[in-house]
Amino acid sequence: MGAAWLNINLNALKANYQYLDSCSAPTCTTGAAVKADAYGLGMVPVSHALYESGCRHFFVAQVDEAVTLRQSFAEKPCHIFVLEGPQAHDLADYQAYKLTPVINTAAQIEHLVGFNKANFSSLPSALHIDTAMNRLGLAPVDIQRLGEHLSPGGPLPLCLVMSHLACADNPLHSLNTEQLSMFSTLAAQIEHTPKSLANSAGILLAERYHFDLTRPGISLYGAMTDPATRDKQLTSVLSWQAEILQIRDIDKGQSVGYGAEFTAETAMKLATIGAGYADGYARALYQPEQNRIALVGIGGHAAPLVGRVSMDLIVVDVSKIPDSVLQKSEHADLIWSGYPLEQMALDRQTIAYEVMTGLGGRTKRYYDG
Ligand SMILES: *Cc1c(COP(=O)(O)O)cnc(C)c1O
Repeated sequence: MGAAWLNINLNALKANYQYLDSCSAPTCTTGAAVKADAYGLGMVPVSHALYESGCRHFFVAQVDEAVTLRQSFAEKPCHIFVLEGPQAHDLADYQAYKLTPVINTAAQIEHLVGFNKANFSSLPSALHIDTAMNRLGLAPVDIQRLGEHLSPGGPLPLCLVMSHLACADNPLHSLNTEQLSMFSTLAAQIEHTPKSLANSAGILLAERYHFDLTRPGISLYGAMTDPATRDKQLTSVLSWQAEILQIRDIDKGQSVGYGAEFTAETAMKLATIGAGYADGYARALYQPEQNRIALVGIGGHAAPLVGRVSMDLIVVDVSKIPDSVLQKSEHADLIWSGYPLEQMALDRQTIAYEVMTGLGGRTKRYYDG
């Protein structure tokens, strides 16, 4: 079993999908963002569980992810969108694996039109309009120039028009309504094509953001950017555990770990646990001068970190945990009800997305449900 592992609850994932689906109008379809290995949880098992819940629209960032996902689905029909869009040299892959390119640039339009003409093909694509995020997607002025290609039966059949919200996790931000009205105006020029705007936070904003297809990611995985905005109906999907490798007693005045940064003010009992920054357990989780000290769970009792996080190990204070509990416990909980993902993200001064995608490759993933 490796020193640290993730437990991924696919039933909770499915329940989150169903909940998000129930939040939107019956005419709106719920898709899923499964890029970056489904935020570290494992793209293939996560996508197949979502498929069982009725999900048929999957969004990945890169073409290699899309090919892997298509191969895993074999003959099961579904749409796989590649957000970064096509390059001239990988269009044959899009066709062979029935992937849907997301067009972000004028150059990508030329590649696609050229490819479709040369191959007598009509590879459908999605059009990404940038509405004030200034990151990826066609500028509004480019949409006007598209007209010639977009006529029905033309060389650029579209199956989706989309944009992405910059501030949806801040419901009061004025950019939300600005982007909504910009998207509504621009998308209306492209008739008879489904529209998509909302990520997780966009779904929770209001129904007028939903259009025909939503693209939740983080909320499917049971997290939102911070505990305050987390919708109470979402269930956490992930727990993270690691082996307790050693328990020792130290005396007052002895120090712990690299840099001898922690010195015991009294006799203590410590447990050494098999996870460290190489697994994605960040060094920033021990910052005593900032009052940021992560809590590990042992048999439901909280044990605070002592000393610096090492590459493969952390040390925690178990002085207050009853011996009977310690003797029975073989593992510690790193992400658990007493120290949820969102709290870990806050303590690291980041967001749940970064914690999840940073969970190390050597950490095994176990699925139930
Ligand atoms: C990642 C991503 C999403 C999903 O966002 P969440 O905040 O995780 O729900 C949706 N759309 C696009 C374009 C994305 O890049």
